Amino acid sequence: MAVSAEEVAHKLGYADSDALILHLPLRYEDETRITPLREARLGDTVQIEGLVEHSEIQNRPRRQLIVQMSDGDSGRLYFRLLHFYPSQVALLKPGARVRVLGEIRPGYFGAEMVHPKFRVVQENTPLPERLSPVYPSVAGLSQYAIRRAVEDALARADLSDPLPAPLAFPESFPGFAAALHALHHPPPDADLAGLEAREGPAWRRIKYDELLAQQLSLRLAARHRQTLCAPALPEDGGLEDRLIAALPFALTEAQGRVLREIRRDLARPQPMNRMLQGDVGSGKTLIAALTALPALAAGHQVAVMAPTEILAEQLYLKFHEWLHPLDIDVAWLTAALKGKAKKATLHGLADGSIRLAVGTHALFQNEVAFHGLALVIVDEQHRFGVAQRLALRSKGAQIGHASGDWQPHLLMMSATPIPRSLAMSYFADLDVSVIDELPPGRTPIVTRTVSAQRRPEVVARLRDYCLAGAQAYWVCPLVEESEKLQLRAAEESHAELALQLPELKVGLIHGRMKADEKAAVMGAFKAGELHLLVATTVIEVGVDVPNAALMVIEHAERYGLAQLHQLRGRVGRGARVSACVLLYENALSDTARQRLKIIHDHNDGFAIARADLALRGPGEFLGARQSGLQMLRFADPLADADLLEGARAAAPGLLERHPEGVERHLARWLPRGLDLFRA
Ligand code: ADP
Ligand code: MG
Repeated sequence: MAVSAEEVAHKLGYADSDALILHLPLRYEDETRITPLREARLGDTVQIEGLVEHSEIQNRPRRQLIVQMSDGDSGRLYFRLLHFYPSQVALLKPGARVRVLGEIRPGYFGAEMVHPKFRVVQENTPLPERLSPVYPSVAGLSQYAIRRAVEDALARADLSDPLPAPLAFPESFPGFAAALHALHHPPPDADLAGLEAREGPAWRRIKYDELLAQQLSLRLAARHRQTLCAPALPEDGGLEDRLIAALPFALTEAQGRVLREIRRDLARPQPMNRMLQGDVGSGKTLIAALTALPALAAGHQVAVMAPTEILAEQLYLKFHEWLHPLDIDVAWLTAALKGKAKKATLHGLADGSIRLAVGTHALFQNEVAFHGLALVIVDEQHRFGVAQRLALRSKGAQIGHASGDWQPHLLMMSATPIPRSLAMSYFADLDVSVIDELPPGRTPIVTRTVSAQRRPEVVARLRDYCLAGAQAYWVCPLVEESEKLQLRAAEESHAELALQLPELKVGLIHGRMKADEKAAVMGAFKAGELHLLVATTVIEVGVDVPNAALMVIEHAERYGLAQLHQLRGRVGRGARVSACVLLYENALSDTARQRLKIIHDHNDGFAIARADLALRGPGEFLGARQSGLQMLRFADPLADADLLEGARAAAPGLLERHPEGVERHLARWLPRGLDLFRA
């Protein structure tokens, strides 16, 4: 039964059959010519035409149909079918004329093909004039059905260029219709290897169009944001000067610059949508506190959110330290908060008596109502999952209604820098501020990679270090499959180290502990009552103990690069010479070795992110599946950086001068609406 084009489209995951014009081939088969058998060499993929001389079904070593054919003058070929229908057996009788396409291999009887593509034909059946596309498929969908559906879509669709060259694309590029034709039906002399590697003018046009659609939609989203209202917050009532004057240090120049950028945003009556990037330890928390001041001075509410309890608590302590002297109270809300205390906090947020709250995503649960929330700050933004980000966004809209139709300003912070190429494509509608400088007086961290066999030496060094007055972290192996196993690994390391280091006080902290237990351990470590803190990755981000100068990471090869860099950033925060020891197991894969080398060679988060991106590609790097970020199908912002630059430059003029064409272009590329590219 013939499958309809609609059905094919749905099976392939498209909303409708129009989308099939951009269902592009993976590779091609050359059915345009017949190769005489005597010219076919072993290993070649060729098409042979000839007559069946003999065919039979064998049952050993497995059931198969063996067909012997000859192309007359030049030779004999055997081909084997491992799956076949009775109707095919009937067709492949002696005397039948067949065309087979496949790879010639040495077989038991001579040259053979295993499961070639074959077709019974008449004498002089014309050969196709174009290469045959092979499309990405799913189970139960034949290439034949896909080809027909794609043909059908191509015949029906309007393939004209909705946007004109040279404004929309360079004049040297083929038109959209020509590019599609060249990709779906390349001529026999086309550069097959190039096409399959997705190179050449036709592919460039397609990739460019995709990037252009992305740039256009991001700009439209940004433009939409400009229509939203937010409270303008130009004044801080002198709070900023008071806070800065009370600090034992001066802001770095980079901190001063990003603060001015943020203050400029806040002064406008549109919601800020800014990402603050800064390497581990660059002092983002202070910027967060300073960002809150204008909103607080105006009598509005501010919510500060961190991905974990430990982090939320660290934020809380810093905010309290800096803001309490200014008579600003900091409230606290996490999932662990229960009973009366929780009730009081919810009340205070709803009636506006609490103006500043720090917490986890518990801040954005349904039961929480705000009263004039003007600013949301999200720390370690990359660690929040899709669900949490969506909840935050819909909460933003809700808050908008409750507060006279405004949206709160949004400041996101992250220590995982987005390389420029990705920032320009996926995050083009975000404003980005970068703290590209660490506070002075930091000592660079010395990183060593050491085989786990030398663990006793490492433990001995650790003892000397701690007895000299420093503190250290011991980070336990990551066990991704199971939190339970992870916990056990941590407990084992703790027991073992406590035994090996009787002269040291050794603490343990892990994700399964209750919030107050964690707080007690962290507090003891901070106060210097513990020498060594054995930890799981709960200490990954944000933890700030300047006297901790040594970190040992077990099974470092199991961690991601960003994670290792974050972990390492827990040391090197004071004046002591700091070191990070990456223990690895001996049988390292090549990639694992490369990754550890990156961490060893670089101390700068941006350099690490670039290397990581090059190693893993944008999809993995951004955690696209996890974050729900729509990835590009054809273009790669790194490899196609020149196309990306071009599309980015073209977008504003096109929006200005050809709004209808833009709409058609987007309908072609983003049929499911303009929201697709937003995180
Ligand atoms: P991160 O950017 O990783 O969140 P933090 O905000 O935790 O970094 O800052 C790391 C440490 O640096 C904190 O102890 C903070 O108080 C301190 N700090 C921040 N700004 C400065 C500065 N300008 N000079 C000196 N120390 C600073
Ligand atoms: Mg931080």
